[in-house]
Amino acid sequence: MSDLSLRKIVIVGGGTAGWMAAAPLAQLFARAGARRPEIVLVESPDIGTIGVGEATLPPIRAYNKTLGLDEADFVRQTQGSFKLGIEFRDWGHVGNRFFHGFGDFGPAIEGRSPWQHWLRLQRSVADMPTYEDWSTPTVMARRNRFTLPEGGAPSAANAFSFAYHFDAGLYAAYLRDYAMQRGAQRIEGLIVDVELRPEDGFVAAVKLQDGRRIDGDLFIDCSGFRALLVGGAMQSPFEDWSELLPCNSAQAVPSERVEPLTPYTQSTAKAAGWQWRIPLQHRTGNGHVYCSSFISDDEAAATLLAGLDSKALDTPRQLRFTTGRRKQGWVKNVVAIGLSSGFLEPLESTSIQLIMDAVGRLIQFLPDRNFKPHLAAEFNRLMARQYESIRDFIVLHYKVTARRDSELWRYCAAMPMPDSLAHQIELFRSTGRVAVLDPDSFAEPSWVSLFLGLGLRPEACDPFVDLIDVQALLQHFVRLRQAITQTVAGMPDHADYIAKHAPAP
Ligand code: FAD
Repeated sequence: MSDLSLRKIVIVGGGTAGWMAAAPLAQLFARAGARRPEIVLVESPDIGTIGVGEATLPPIRAYNKTLGLDEADFVRQTQGSFKLGIEFRDWGHVGNRFFHGFGDFGPAIEGRSPWQHWLRLQRSVADMPTYEDWSTPTVMARRNRFTLPEGGAPSAANAFSFAYHFDAGLYAAYLRDYAMQRGAQRIEGLIVDVELRPEDGFVAAVKLQDGRRIDGDLFIDCSGFRALLVGGAMQSPFEDWSELLPCNSAQAVPSERVEPLTPYTQSTAKAAGWQWRIPLQHRTGNGHVYCSSFISDDEAAATLLAGLDSKALDTPRQLRFTTGRRKQGWVKNVVAIGLSSGFLEPLESTSIQLIMDAVGRLIQFLPDRNFKPHLAAEFNRLMARQYESIRDFIVLHYKVTARRDSELWRYCAAMPMPDSLAHQIELFRSTGRVAVLDPDSFAEPSWVSLFLGLGLRPEACDPFVDLIDVQALLQHFVRLRQAITQTVAGMPDHADYIAKHAPAP
C-alpha cells in the first residue's frame, strides 16, 4: 500500500447504485486488513430511493457470484423470480409478438452463426418454422419452464442464460447488510452542501443538514437523478438524447401475483410509449413509460391500469426523467454511478447493468490520491461507448417498426438516428451481418432477435452458407429442434422450481 492510497471513500446515496457500489468495495478492502480505507455511505430517508428497477440482465449472476452470494438465499430474500428474456408485444406492428431470449440459436455450423443457416433455409424451404424455435430460452419461456443450465458439453440443456427479477428495495437492503457486515458504515442525513478544495476544486467533504461534515478522498455519486456531486459541484454537462428517445415519464404500480409465474419480462408497445410487466413472488411490477407530449398523465395512468392482468395494489406513482448521460461520469475525485451518470428507458433492463459495469471499472481503475487523469479518461471512454451502444439498441425498437398509428410512432419514423445505428441497420438489411460495436453491450443474437422480431428481413445472407447442402442442413435443424422441445418438456415449471429451491420467506 503506497502512502497515497485512499483513506476514505464516501458513497453519496443508498439506492440500488449506492449499495451495489458499497458491497464489492467492502469485499475488496476487507482483504486489506487494518490499512483498508474507510467506506462510508450517506443516505437520506427523507428523499428515499426511486424504488423501481426490478428486471436485470444475465451478467448480474457474475456480480452476485463475485460477492459469494448464495443464489437460493438471494432469490428468496428479494422475492425474486428467474428471467429468460423479454417478450415484446405490438412493437413491430399491432399484433406482432416476439421474444428476445438470453442465449444464442445453437452451436455454430462450419464456423458460421446458426441463425445465418436458418436464414438460408428460410429462403429455400417452404414453411420453415420461426427462428425462435431454435432458441432454447424462448421455448422455455413459451412453456413457463425453468431450471438451471446443466452439463458441460453444449446441448439444449445449457443453451441459455438467465437473469432475475427482484424487488429493488429488498435487493438494496440485502447488499446493505452484506456491505455493513464487511465494514461499510452507513450515515443517515440530508446533504445540503458540498465543500471543494480551494487549490484544485476536488471535493473535500459533504455537509449534512444537522451540521455534520463528512470528508473523504474519493466520492462516489449515487444520488440518483439529483446528481448532487457530478452535476452540482462538478458541473459535468448532461448530453440530452430526448430527440432520439422522446419518452420522459413513467407511472409505476404493483398488482397481485398472477399464475402462471412467467419467467420473463413483458413489454407491450402502446400509443404513446410502452408498458412493462415484471413477475415477482409476492406481486407483479407494472409500469407505463411514455412521452408527455403525446398523452396526459391521467390518460397514461388509465392506460396502465387498463393493461394490468391482476388487481392493482396501489395507485400509480409518477416518475419523470430525461434520457441522456453525463459527458464525464468521473471528474476529479467524483465518480458518478447509477442514475446520476445518466438514464436510458428500461426497455432492455440496462440500468443495473450499467451500474455493475461502472463499479467493475472503478475497481479496475482504482485511483490513489494522485487521481492520475488517464484513469478517469479510460473509465469515461468505456462508459461513453457502452451508453451509446445501448442507446442505439433501444432506439432500434422505435425505428425498425411498421407502426405509424399514433403521434409517437409517426415522430419516431421521422426522427433522426445516430450514424452508428444507421450503419447497423443497413449492414443487416443488405447483407444479413451484425456489427457488434461494443463488446460490453448486446451481442449478435440480441441484435438478430430484434431485427427479425421487428420484421426486418435481410436481402442476402452470408454467401458461404449457400455452399452447404440444404437437405443435410435441414435435417440438422430438425434434430436440433426436437432436442430442444424434448429437453424443455422435461424441465420443471418456473413456479415449482422456485417453490422447491428458493421460496420466499
Ligand atoms: P436512487 O434510487 O434514486 O437513489 C438515490 C439515493 O441518493 C437515495 O438513497 C437518496 O436518499 C440519496 N440522496 C439523494 N439526494 C440526497 C441528499 N441531498 N442527501 C442525502 N442523500 C441523498 N433499471 C433496471 O436495470 N431494470 C429495470 O427494470 C428498471 N426499471 C426502471 C423503470 C423506471 C421508470 C425508471 C425511472 C428506472 C428504472 N431502472 C431500471 C433504473 C433503476 O431504477 C436505477 O438504475 C436504480 O434504481 C439505481 O438508482 P440510483 O441508486 O442511482 O438512484
